[in-house]
Amino acid sequence: MKKVVKFGGSSLAAAEQFQKVREIICSDEDRRYIVPSAPGKRFDGDTKVTDLLYECCGRAEAEEPFDLLLAEIRERYEDIIAGLGLDLSLEEDFAEIEERLLREPDRDYTASRGEYLNGKVMSAYLGFEFVDAAEMIRFCDDGTFDTNLTKKLTEERLSLCQNAVIPGFYGAYANGRIRTFTRGGSDITGSIIAWALGADMYENWTDVPGFLVSDPRIVDNPEVVDMITYRELRELSYMGATVLHEEAIFPVRKAGIPINIRNTNNPEDLGTMIVATTSQKPRFTVTGIAGKKGFVAVDVYKDMMNSEIGFCRKVLSVFEDNEISIEHMPSGIDTMCIFVHQDEFQEKEQSVLSGILRAVDPDSIDVEPDLALIAVVGRGMRENRGTAGRIFSALAHAKINCRMIDQGSSELNIIIGVDNKDFEEAIRAIYDIFILTKLT
Ligand code: ASP
Repeated sequence: MKKVVKFGGSSLAAAEQFQKVREIICSDEDRRYIVPSAPGKRFDGDTKVTDLLYECCGRAEAEEPFDLLLAEIRERYEDIIAGLGLDLSLEEDFAEIEERLLREPDRDYTASRGEYLNGKVMSAYLGFEFVDAAEMIRFCDDGTFDTNLTKKLTEERLSLCQNAVIPGFYGAYANGRIRTFTRGGSDITGSIIAWALGADMYENWTDVPGFLVSDPRIVDNPEVVDMITYRELRELSYMGATVLHEEAIFPVRKAGIPINIRNTNNPEDLGTMIVATTSQKPRFTVTGIAGKKGFVAVDVYKDMMNSEIGFCRKVLSVFEDNEISIEHMPSGIDTMCIFVHQDEFQEKEQSVLSGILRAVDPDSIDVEPDLALIAVVGRGMRENRGTAGRIFSALAHAKINCRMIDQGSSELNIIIGVDNKDFEEAIRAIYDIFILTKLT
């Protein structure tokens, strides 16, 4: 077995965290390729090393002094090195970073050093070879990810190592210039390495117990999802539920490699498995509940709309011309309703409305602001009768008016529209009916 194992910043923020990480790695010899993030927050109110590095670069660009800040970053690493009792000096690395900041400050290069240096510390601590991600993860000149070259370089380079540490978050252009992924991008590095090596598993170690059924800021102590499919996860992440970088799903999904989300602070917990498909029955009918506030519904009415060929296309082109993306589109015989993001819509409102008037000459148009959308997602829903009924009776009991219902034929999810003010209560009501009642 071959596992690629990524550790997030909070798992590597201090020497004690590194010790936990080493135990985790050493307890399973399949954990062969390790992808570290930069040191994260050690306590509430602390600053991530990556943020300090961006700040350093900002100062260098403005030709302001940054030496104290760089010394603070260096101290973070030195504390870890001393805490682990390692004989490792980062003096030359810091001299080089300083020289680059003075000569030609570059945001991507500077930020990438957080992972680069943490990778060096990790490699010294574990006795695994350090392999720079810039040697393998490649970008084309236009900034897109170079899939084929990355796969080839990664296979070639890592086939030479039984074990290795590969820093997360960045790669390089052909000319060696560093390019980072978007924030949280070490998740993507781990996924790419797992895909390129055809790993059996991609473990992503973090500081949460796994993917939660719902947002803990809304529901008290939500249950952990033991198994979720990529498709379910995609639906829920789109609606704001996050556990790993959204783009990290695609490389491993292509290769059918499962992702296991684990908690560094509780390594015996099994966390959440993210898989392509499974025959295992879900614990609950509903896998997850997530949502977002801030939508507008644009209702277009016209008698005999359904017999007017091209009506929907004409309305939708008005949104396209105004560069507004559409979220949902439930419709009736003589009505069409388009859900869009309120902040995107508001500034172009009048242009959209007059565009629709010109395009299809409707009987009337209504605009309803301040709506929230909630996605109730679960592969178990299609097998269980009465799911929609239970959702709506839960909402009715909570005295919440359901403003919209949208269910795709895949029956993987039901989308519900409610007023913004009812958002949290609606999520709690749905959680209670599907999860709490099953637990008690
Ligand atoms: N260190 C980077 C960040 O803070 C990347 C990562 O942690 O995944 O965004």
